[in-house]
Amino acid sequence: MIMQVQDSAYLIDTMALGIRNFVAAYLLVDEKVAVIDTGYASSLNVLLSDIRSISLDPSTIDYVIITHVHLDHAGAAGALIKNAINAKVLAHPRGVKHLIDPTRLISSVKELYGQEAARFGKVDPIPPERIYGVEDGTCVSLGSMRLKFIYTQGHAPHHLCVYEETNSFLFTGDAVSGAYPSFPVFVPPSVPPSFDFIGLIDDLKLLMRLGSRLLMTPHFGIREASKNVFEEEISLLNWWKDFISSEKENCSDVELITDAACKALAKKFSVDVKEVPDYVRMSIRLAVEGMLGYLERLTTKS
Ligand SMILES: [Zn+2]
Repeated sequence: MIMQVQDSAYLIDTMALGIRNFVAAYLLVDEKVAVIDTGYASSLNVLLSDIRSISLDPSTIDYVIITHVHLDHAGAAGALIKNAINAKVLAHPRGVKHLIDPTRLISSVKELYGQEAARFGKVDPIPPERIYGVEDGTCVSLGSMRLKFIYTQGHAPHHLCVYEETNSFLFTGDAVSGAYPSFPVFVPPSVPPSFDFIGLIDDLKLLMRLGSRLLMTPHFGIREASKNVFEEEISLLNWWKDFISSEKENCSDVELITDAACKALAKKFSVDVKEVPDYVRMSIRLAVEGMLGYLERLTTKS
């Protein structure tokens, strides 16, 4: 499903794993055309048919911009550019090699998800001549819109946000929490393997200073931006770190900690915990694992 969310800006619900309101991609149509994030490889057909449904031929896409190389964001990029034959892929330089050769991405996803990983689809490599690493602070112009790349490496070392300067849209990638309409709690973006708590707090402070008008989030949809949004993200992260630290004292089982985390998030946001859908639980479990990994790295460092 594609929705016009602002003049020349569209949200594509990629129907990830067949689920509505789970993973969004964005399409900007100006003199030039850009797609920001692509969803899983298994969402390719949804992506293409949504783009065509607004009478846009994929061959007119100029840029496919990847906020980071996790497969719910970059999985379909390689297959998309076989259709978007004129598009350049833009990504964080630390992500470029993984998109050219996705072997490591695929194996780490198999490690995390096991059998489930097959549902993410086949990840096509991106030919080296079609992908460019973008520097922090550099811009590309789409015509009236101008996109600035902002490194935000707390979620992952290959993560960036995209700030559209003319309209003050911020394409957040996973620098902010997930918030799914089916279970309205905020799920911190603390995923394995390289989540950096201090880094993400710094990212949020940096993003707060941009003064964005709207946040275009992948999980899921548009949020009004204000200073408060970022302050709430920071306070949620602090709470989350304390919560996982104290759970970790009493228990080493990820599933049990995830149960406790679902309950605690539901209570914090006044939602009935019995209703947590599987995919949201999966997101919460990842957030638990990423924070546990971060805390573990802290103790081994000291
Ligand atoms: Zn994501």
